[in-house]
Amino acid sequence: MSVEHDPLVEARKQLKQSIEILGLGDEIYQVLAVPDRVLQVKIPLKMDDGSVKVFIGWRSQHNGALGPYKGGVRYHPDVTMNEVIALSMWMTWKNSLAGLPYGGGKGGIRVDPHRLSKSELERLSRAYFEAISDIVGVDQDIPAPDVYTDPQVMTWYFDQFSRVKRGQYFGVVTGKPLEVGGLYTRIIATGYGTAIAAREVAKKLFGSVEGRTVAVQGYGNAGYYAAKFLHEMGAIIVAVSDSRGGIYNSKGLNPDEVKAIKNKTGTVLNYPAEKKITNEELLELDVDILVPAAIENVITEENADRIKAKAVVEAANGPTTPEAEEILTKAGIVVVPDILANAGGVIMSHIEWVNNRMGGWITEEEAQRRLEYKMVTNFNKVWDYWESKLDKEKYNMRAAAYAIAVDRVVAAMRLRGWI
Ligand code: GLU
Repeated sequence: MSVEHDPLVEARKQLKQSIEILGLGDEIYQVLAVPDRVLQVKIPLKMDDGSVKVFIGWRSQHNGALGPYKGGVRYHPDVTMNEVIALSMWMTWKNSLAGLPYGGGKGGIRVDPHRLSKSELERLSRAYFEAISDIVGVDQDIPAPDVYTDPQVMTWYFDQFSRVKRGQYFGVVTGKPLEVGGLYTRIIATGYGTAIAAREVAKKLFGSVEGRTVAVQGYGNAGYYAAKFLHEMGAIIVAVSDSRGGIYNSKGLNPDEVKAIKNKTGTVLNYPAEKKITNEELLELDVDILVPAAIENVITEENADRIKAKAVVEAANGPTTPEAEEILTKAGIVVVPDILANAGGVIMSHIEWVNNRMGGWITEEEAQRRLEYKMVTNFNKVWDYWESKLDKEKYNMRAAAYAIAVDRVVAAMRLRGWI
């Protein structure tokens, strides 16, 4: 990741803007620009061949005014401490905006998990969680999946924590498999929530999502389920991609068939489509809705003026740089920001956590209904704020989302006597 796209610099810029919109002073900016705590851990991993490799991991706890820290853990070879801190700040805003009783946290290990065997991955995951076990807990900090971590990794976390603390702490992580306290709706939640956000913005811009063309960059959990549910809602998924490249079909792709091919062959590229495209070409397609669902900083000042979509719905965290967003805003392109569009994951995490604490009570139908209700309400809350309180030409939807989110955190800090 290049220095000019340090996500922490960008997260702070976004914070600064919302502090200005809310008319708050520099003091509050200073309090929120720095995380409460960052723990760095060293994980010497005994590899299957007997050698030892050292990995570095972090857990950043950004702000706990609203409740226990909450956010995922990512495994990625490029993860940096600043990135983890920025992501934990974004979680503070995401959780606040969604009205959840959570502060923001995020973790990461600098590793390419695809180069580890399953047992190496298990040992790495257990060692990481044990190393951070003093600062996580059911009422302290509750990790969850993020890039390249999944329900199996969450099970190792939960099991290791339960061994260390001698109990059964289901609520210490969310995004678990069904057999150990998880909910099916959590697995689909980020993508399903993104599809709802896309449907809602389509209603505002075009009247309906039906018949609208969509391109999805990234075909992991979030990208696949966003494509699947948008397809079910009547949108036409004309292009999808993964890290190896993308495919395009003018009449639309079937997301489940593409997923089956990816599962079988490792990439969407083997799906018989009209043409293959690059990830860059996908972003610049002439579609109604673009869903970046991979990693951060894919829409930058270099390609922003070539984006032709009318709406960008951010399934990934931080896919649009602030400079790029300025260009999009001037061009009248609506960006539904990550902290709103991809909040479905953490909203369902909250439901899973509540359910764990109640000893398993909720039904999948109820969970899904609550998720849908919250996504629609949150979307309209941000849209209405943007329309009624801000100059729509000057400020974008992210500014509205941030203003609502930062305001709630500041109010909680005031009430608690922190500022
Ligand atoms: N990693 C997800 C996110 O960025 C989910 C976090 C959670 O469920 O705690 O929102």
